[in-house]
Amino acid sequence: MLMPQRTLPDGSAIPALGLGTWRMGERAEARAAEILAVREALRMGYRLLDTAEMYGEGGAESMLGEALRQAFAAGEAQREDLTIVSKVYPHHASARGVIEACERSLQRLKLDRIDLYLLHWRGEYALAETLAGFAQLQRRGLILHWGVSNFDVADLEELFALPGGSACAANQVYYSLGARGVEFDLLPWQARHRLPLMAYSPIDQGALGGHPVLQRIGQRLGVSAAQVALAWVLRQPEVIAIPKAVRTAHLQDNLAAAELRLSANDLQALDAAFAPPGAKQPLAMI
Ligand code: NAP
Repeated sequence: MLMPQRTLPDGSAIPALGLGTWRMGERAEARAAEILAVREALRMGYRLLDTAEMYGEGGAESMLGEALRQAFAAGEAQREDLTIVSKVYPHHASARGVIEACERSLQRLKLDRIDLYLLHWRGEYALAETLAGFAQLQRRGLILHWGVSNFDVADLEELFALPGGSACAANQVYYSLGARGVEFDLLPWQARHRLPLMAYSPIDQGALGGHPVLQRIGQRLGVSAAQVALAWVLRQPEVIAIPKAVRTAHLQDNLAAAELRLSANDLQALDAAFAPPGAKQPLAMI
């Protein structure tokens, strides 16, 4: 399949759908199956992979690094075709700490560059400090783009007011049918600033896969409920979805959902089951 693309603020392309890795790299006994799942995902056509130093305290990055090493060696994927996203812990996000954290991540990933490096959420360090670290990493070629995660409108306004702050490439937040609060102001703000929104937990951590309204729509379209959930977040051109999956059927389902279009009637039925926000809501976080 030809994966739909999104555009980063500097004009470069990024796949509309990628693979999340939270809850991977946590248990030694699951590692072999997770490596196989990532390699399988790459063979299927996944080109965007999302991880963080937090996941399994480095375990997810190490697992991903090993999967990538094996996939490159087997000719299953080429480094230059991939977009690798990782995230720095807020308590590592001082100007110096962000550099050291990135170097550790790169070692675990067995890569010489992270394509999109995000501040995982806001913490104790001034944003200007973190930005100084990101700028240094870019100068050294260790990261290509930088961005943020779990930032609401006020956070983004503060960021964009800083020198170099508007070079932010993406904001990754919780967005799904079960968490629509961002539609009130954050998503329109990001659309106005052409800042892609990476939707995490787009299947509500698996829960939407069993929702009766999504199942009913899916049955009529010949797709699964989870695919309906993914097509719904991807209906907007500034949204990127990063569902996590290990099972082959889930990996296939999710990739195919990038091409699924929902009708106005389906969207209406989903609005009836999951009301759009009528007022500002605190940013949902998992
Ligand atoms: P999710 O992607 O909404 O759901 C993952 C769960 O859904 C897994 O249990 C998976 O099962 C199941 N699933 C996947 N595809 C399915 C399908 N087609 N049908 C039915 N069930 C399906 O939740 P998430 O892992 O929380 O979020 C996705 C990614 O976003 C994370 O992995 C992480 O990379 C990122 N994230 C970022 C933040 C942040 O603060 N920036 C926070 C949370 C998540 P199997 O694994 O068994 O296949």
